[in-house]
Amino acid sequence: MLEACFQDLVTWMAGRFGKGVYHAAALYRQVFRQGRLAPEELEQFSLSGDLAKRVKKEIRFRLPELADKVSEDGVTKMVFRLADGVRIESVIIPMATHFTLCVSTQAGCRMGCRFCRTGQMGFVRNLEAGEIVGQVLAAKTWLGYEIRNLVFMGMGEPLDNFDNFVKAVKVLEDQRGLNIAKGRMTVSTAGLVDGIYALAAEGLSPLKLAVSLNAPEDDLRSYLMPLNRRHRLRELIRALQAYPLPPKGHILIEYVLIEGVNDSREHADQLADLVRYLPAKVNLIACNPDPRGSFRPPPAKVLEAFRQTLVENGIFVRVRSSKGRGILAACGQLGRPAATAVC
Ligand code: SF4
Repeated sequence: MLEACFQDLVTWMAGRFGKGVYHAAALYRQVFRQGRLAPEELEQFSLSGDLAKRVKKEIRFRLPELADKVSEDGVTKMVFRLADGVRIESVIIPMATHFTLCVSTQAGCRMGCRFCRTGQMGFVRNLEAGEIVGQVLAAKTWLGYEIRNLVFMGMGEPLDNFDNFVKAVKVLEDQRGLNIAKGRMTVSTAGLVDGIYALAAEGLSPLKLAVSLNAPEDDLRSYLMPLNRRHRLRELIRALQAYPLPPKGHILIEYVLIEGVNDSREHADQLADLVRYLPAKVNLIACNPDPRGSFRPPPAKVLEAFRQTLVENGIFVRVRSSKGRGILAACGQLGRPAATAVC
C-alpha cells in the first residue's frame, strides 16, 4: 500500500467497497502520518459495519524490517531487510533544526562508479515505490526522526529506476500524508541523460537536481564512471542546461576529490570552464577510501587549492564534510559486496 498515491486509494475503496474520498482520506492520513494500518480506530470507519475488518484483510501494509542500526557523530545508518530478504541502507543526517534522510532507490547499482562501494557490489534489483517511501516512513514514524529534507543519494541511480522513483516522489509530497515538499528533495544522478530529460518532462520542479560529475574531461570521467562512455560530458551539460529550474534555482555539481586522480589545478580550471555557463553550485567532497583501497582523499591543502581555483574562476563552491565514515554511512560507502547483498 505504501506505493499507492491518494487517487489510487480512492479508486480502490470505491471499486472494492463502494466508499469514497471520506474513508480513503482518513486511512491515507493514518498510514502516512502514523505509519500504521488500523482502520478500526478511525471514527470514519466506525459506522460502516465490518468495513474496517474487510479493509485490513485486503490491504498489504508493510514497513521494511529494520535489520540493523548504527550511529556515529549523530549520523545513523539504518539497514533494512525487504520482504524478499534483500538488504538496503538509508542514512539519517542531523542538521541544525531537523534531519535529512539519504534514501536508496535500488539494491546495488549498475553504474559501476569506481570510487563507490555500491557500484562495486553490482546490481541486485530496483526498489518498488513503496520500498522507497517505506524508508522515509520508517525513519519518521518508527524511529521518531523529524525528517524534513530528502536526498536520493543512497544506494542506486534513481533515474535508472525512473517510474518507481517518480511514483515515490508523488506519494512523499502528498500533503495528506508525509507532506515533504518537492523543493526539499534532491535527486542525484550519475548523468543518465535520458532520465534528466524525462524528469524535466514530468514537471516535478522544484525538485532539486544534483549531478555526480567527478571529472572535467571525458577520458578521466569514463575511467571513473563507465556511464560516461554512453553519455559524454557535452551531452550531459546540454541536458542540464535544459533542466527547468525555479527562479534562483541551481544545479548541484558534486565533485569527489581523489588524490592524484582529479585534484590538480588543471582539473579545477577545466571544471570551471565546464560549469561556467550553468546555473550551478559545486560541492567538493574528499573521497572516502574505496573498497579496493586504491583511491585516497587529497591532503587538506590540495583540497583548499582546488577550491580556491574555482573561486578565482567565479564559481560558487563549498566543501562538504563527509560524516559517518567509520560506520560506512558516508558518500559512496553504502552496501555490501555482491555475495552478501542478498540474505
Ligand atoms: S556513485 Fe551512485 S551511480 Fe555511481 S555506482 Fe555509486 S550509487 Fe551508483
